[in-house]
Order: sequence, then structure tokens, then C-alpha cells
Amino acid sequence: MIVRRAILIRLPKDKCDVDYIRRLMALTNLAYRDYEVLVTDIPRTIQNQLYDSFKNYMSSLVFGTEPKRWFARTWVPLKTLRIHQDGSMKGDKGAPVVLDFRNNVIRLRQVCKNEPRYVVELPMPEWVVERMKEDGDIKFAMIGLRDDEPYLALVAERVVEPYLPSNYVLVIDVNAWNNGITWGLIKDGFIIKWKPEVPNLREIDNLYNLSVRLSREYGRLKRMGLDKTEKGKRLWKKIKKLRKRSYAKLRDYVQKLAHRLVRKALKHKAIVIIDDMIEESRRELIEEKIPSGLRKLYLAYTRRFVRLLITQLEWYGIPYRLKRLPSTVCPMCQHELTQLPGRIMVCENCGFKAPRDKVPLYWALIKLTSSRPKGQISLESWRLN
Ligand SMILES: [Zn+2]
Repeated sequence: MIVRRAILIRLPKDKCDVDYIRRLMALTNLAYRDYEVLVTDIPRTIQNQLYDSFKNYMSSLVFGTEPKRWFARTWVPLKTLRIHQDGSMKGDKGAPVVLDFRNNVIRLRQVCKNEPRYVVELPMPEWVVERMKEDGDIKFAMIGLRDDEPYLALVAERVVEPYLPSNYVLVIDVNAWNNGITWGLIKDGFIIKWKPEVPNLREIDNLYNLSVRLSREYGRLKRMGLDKTEKGKRLWKKIKKLRKRSYAKLRDYVQKLAHRLVRKALKHKAIVIIDDMIEESRRELIEEKIPSGLRKLYLAYTRRFVRLLITQLEWYGIPYRLKRLPSTVCPMCQHELTQLPGRIMVCENCGFKAPRDKVPLYWALIKLTSSRPKGQISLESWRLN
């Protein structure tokens, strides 16, 4: 199985011609639609990239590159040349992206500016070195704009076969961020460890609320036609900074958590069961009357977490399943559960009682044991909580 992971690297804006990249993206869009337009003022080598090898990249384009509408911006696929430490080379010698492991730099040739022999040099990211150590190879790269900022995307790929799981199961129950992620480790039919993971939401809420307050003030200035004044510009800058900080905090948290859980699965050679209940989480967020902007932010990062997790599980050949693990239905008798204060769930039919975040883990146990007759769970173990 070929698996892929990708990383985005921000390019130095002062060394990139954003308009040139925008044009390349427009040409890519056309190439995607089977139109060959050769423009006289853009180097042939770059244009050939688009038309000759474009189709080969199609299955490797990771970044939602499928243009949704005409002239939507499409990331530009680029070939790479890999120069290894011993001087051996792999890839196309004329490739616009050179990964030079001897000097630990990435060189971009003529894709940042339309000038003969124009080169931008970037330090080699640690991420690339790590993927190479894991037998990955970087055959593809892409260049493009996101929010008008130039980026380089590197796509690592590797051939991997999923391992045979041990007697460990790692269950990951995904809620929206306000209730976090709960993971549980099951061994031979018993939950041996479980933990809800919640980011520091107060900090994120505060940043968000402040940005909303300032946005209102900015709106007032705008209505009075004062948004272009020194004060207005300063305010806008501050709002952008606050938003960026809250995104960065969530992003960082999501990455670290996904990484930690992947390590855990690898350590035990576990099979991973993911309950990805985005819809239920969305409803829960609405019920809890969380403002819609913040709701969107939480959901976006919940989705991001699941995507990241799955990409990494596949990369390391960790077997996983997506399964529905409800938290409001009794795993013993399937009766509706009642919620008590402190997020405790009880079944009025059979007496089952557990913290809400732990209910999905019991569901995982049931689903596992029903397909594997060994490791019966007695009612005793249900009532431990
Ligand atoms: Zn019950």
C-alpha cells in the first residue's frame, strides 16, 4: 500500500512573486481540465511540468487540488530531484525542486519568480529528514498560495503493509474540542487505561472573545468610514494577530495529541478504533450554546485531528477501523441512557453506570468481544465505576 504525508512550508514573501505564482496556478487549473495553453513569457521547463507530467501527479495531489470551479486556484505540481548525502541522485535532473541532503537545503528553481536562473534556498525541514529516515521518499512537491501567502507543499510517500495487531486495542473517541478526545487502552477484553484529553480551552475562548469584541469595535469604525485610519489599521492588525494565536494554539495541540496517540498504538502494536462523531459533536455544541464562530473553529480542528490521525496511522502501517461508538445508548441492553450531573450516564433498565466519556469504550469492548468469543465481560466489570 502506498501511503502519503504532506507538509506545508511558508515561503519568504520578499523572495517570491505572488502574481507569478498566481499565474502558474491558473495555468495548472487549465492543465487539469485538459487545456494546453503555452504562454510565451513563462519558461518552457516549468510549463512542461504542467502538461507532461501532470496526470502522473493526479493521485498524489493531497491538498484538495481538485479545482471546484473554473479558474479556481490550483496548486502547481512540481517534480523533485533528491541529492543524497553520498552524492547519489534520484528524480529528474531538471526538476524545479531540489532536495539537497548534502547541504541540508531545498532549492526552488524558477518557480518563485519569472527570472532566468532565479533560485530560492530554504533550510531543510526536520520533517523531511524524519520521513526519509522512515523510508519515505519525496517525489512530489507543489507550490501555491493560501490567503495570498506563498507556500511549498512537500509530499512524502512510502510503501507499507499494516502490521498484525497484538492483543491491545486503542480506542479513540472523538468529540468536539470542548469535551475533548477520550482514549482508552483495551487489553484482552479489559479497559486497562483511559483518559479524556482536553486542550486549555479557557485560553482559546479568551483569545476568541477578545477578537470578537475588537471586531465589533472595528465594525463601528468602518461604518463611520474610519477603518482606513491609523487607529483602524492598528485594530485590524490586532484582530488578525489574536485569531492567528488561537488557531496556532489549537493546531499545536491537535498535532501533539495525534502524534502521542500514534506512538501509543505503535508501542503496543495495537489496532486502533476511531469513533468519529462529527455530527453528534456539532449538535452537542449547538445545545451548549457555544457561539457559532467558536463552534466552527472547534469543529474544524476536530476534523483536522481525525485527518491527521488517519494519515499518520496509515503512514506507520497501524491497522485502524472507524466505528460508531455511541455515548448515550446503553452498551449492555441498548436502552437510552440518562445523564446525571457530572456527565455520569446511567441505564434505568439494567443499572449500567459510567462516566459519559467512558461509554464509547464499553461499546468498543462489546463490538470486539462479539466478533471474538474469548474474553467475555462480566457485569462486575461494568459496575466498577
Ligand atoms: Zn442497560
